[in-house]
Amino acid sequence: MIRNCRGQTKEWGGRLPVALVFPEEESLALSTLGWQRVYKDLGHNNLFYVERFFWDRKSGKAKCPDSDKTLADFPLICFSLNFEGDFLTLINILKAENIPITASERSDWPLIMAGGPIAFLNPFPVIPSLDFLFVGESEGRFVAISEVIGNAWLKGNSVSQVIASISGLPGIMIYGQQQKVKKQIFLTAEGYLDSPCHSTFVSRASVFRDSFLMEINRGCPYGCRFCAAGFIYRPPRKSKTQDLKNLVQKVNPRKVGLVGTALTDWEDLFSFLTWLHKRKVKFSLSSLRADGLDRKFLEFLRRSGTRSITLAVEGISSRLRRAMNKHFSSEKFFKAVELISEMQFNTLKLYFILGLPGESDKDFHDLTHFLEMLEQARKKGMGRKKKGVDLISISASMFVPKPWTPLQWSPMDKEEVFLEKVRRIKKMCAQYKGLRFQAEKPFSSRIQGLLSKGDEKVHDLLVLASENDNNWRKALKMWSGNIEDYIGSELSVEKDFVWDTIDLGVDRRYLIREFDKYKKEMLTSPCPDEPCPSCRRCGMDKFLSDSSFPERRPAALTSGKKDFPDGN
Ligand code: SF4
Repeated sequence: MIRNCRGQTKEWGGRLPVALVFPEEESLALSTLGWQRVYKDLGHNNLFYVERFFWDRKSGKAKCPDSDKTLADFPLICFSLNFEGDFLTLINILKAENIPITASERSDWPLIMAGGPIAFLNPFPVIPSLDFLFVGESEGRFVAISEVIGNAWLKGNSVSQVIASISGLPGIMIYGQQQKVKKQIFLTAEGYLDSPCHSTFVSRASVFRDSFLMEINRGCPYGCRFCAAGFIYRPPRKSKTQDLKNLVQKVNPRKVGLVGTALTDWEDLFSFLTWLHKRKVKFSLSSLRADGLDRKFLEFLRRSGTRSITLAVEGISSRLRRAMNKHFSSEKFFKAVELISEMQFNTLKLYFILGLPGESDKDFHDLTHFLEMLEQARKKGMGRKKKGVDLISISASMFVPKPWTPLQWSPMDKEEVFLEKVRRIKKMCAQYKGLRFQAEKPFSSRIQGLLSKGDEKVHDLLVLASENDNNWRKALKMWSGNIEDYIGSELSVEKDFVWDTIDLGVDRRYLIREFDKYKKEMLTSPCPDEPCPSCRRCGMDKFLSDSSFPERRPAALTSGKKDFPDGN
């Protein structure tokens, strides 16, 4: 008997052994919910023996924290892809196990697949390494697909027989088979998430130390034009508050981490936090909007032990924030800063994005004014006290054009242009005491941009990087492709992308209209409260009404003979 899951033991024999690999370090894996749900769902199914694997920086291998098994022991290896950087780690992990890194070199087990958000954002750079992908969210369907594979494996089917049996199933993408694949999602008839995703493991090693994470909502109604989360998780859905309470009562955690976007928009936020506080459950919040931070709420946060507030400002000027559809009120933002200073929070973290399309000198002048106002708000909040907020920390990331966003056609700045912008802001921030500035490395951001928009040709670059100790600069020089072809200039909206073979539901014409509105600096209102069929703005209404799409019929997930043959 081997310890397999918290409170659960299983035998290896008579089941399909599945390795669930998170190609990042354990701390990040334990802070990510999608793969934990898959782990739990497969672990509770008697057809599978499941082990989790995390990338180990020291050895460069994927290691299982629960047993001494190695990846090569498993006939089914599932990678959870959450970041573009996972592509290279995936290849390195396969190499470290002496598993051939391209699917065409493998003729026998293991079967290697991937899922996760990158599988429906743009998985094409890594596709040659995979036997298949699951394009969809973590609920339901992936287990049904795995059942097909499990039954086939137990019957002694070959890999090619298994591939043939899953080909054409909903959400399955097989390299070389170019049919359009519809992303699999699930929502209840009332438009809620099926049940809240939550931590399967609570650990000190997590980025959110000792926290039981719960998903409050998925997707974002605002549709900021640079942000993939606002487009790839449509329609925005939330968990039922009663489901969240039931979960807390069942698990009885010491600390809860609320995961979601724009949490201050959630109408039950304050009452839910008050309910947690009364039960002596600590909490942390992943994302707040300045316009939701009034005196009453901030006082409550301070009283209940919150020391740090994080706000995303994004664009460096009000013009750019408007163009990106940020719905940002400067007045409310500086009022919130004043209150944060008055209540002496330890840290205020602010996030900016550099290099948005059309960014110019006048936007930097606007930022100068913004920093002055920030200082004034901090001082006003302090009043006569000696101390306000201890530290204001400003972080800048570089704009990366993401697939499925209205800015997917936009270019990225050259490295030296980014570096000059970083120097410029650093100098501006240095004038203020208690203001710290840090920025991502522009070169890494440009690699992220290339991987985000890459096609199968980028796989050669990944292999070169892997062969050269992950040295991207060296690999780029050796590669036959050119990074500028992907991120060097604005592309025509007529251009087809490789990810167009995935159907996420958002109409391309809607993205083009939003791109045009970026250039005209026009706002689009957030998703309304009513469901997609009443709104019909972005195309999700058609996607959800497709009669071949059983997202509202969970029974079909495991019993639909037509959708899921038994693998013979
Ligand atoms: S159809 Fe309307 S409500 Fe539905 S995702 Fe699109 S914009 Fe939002």
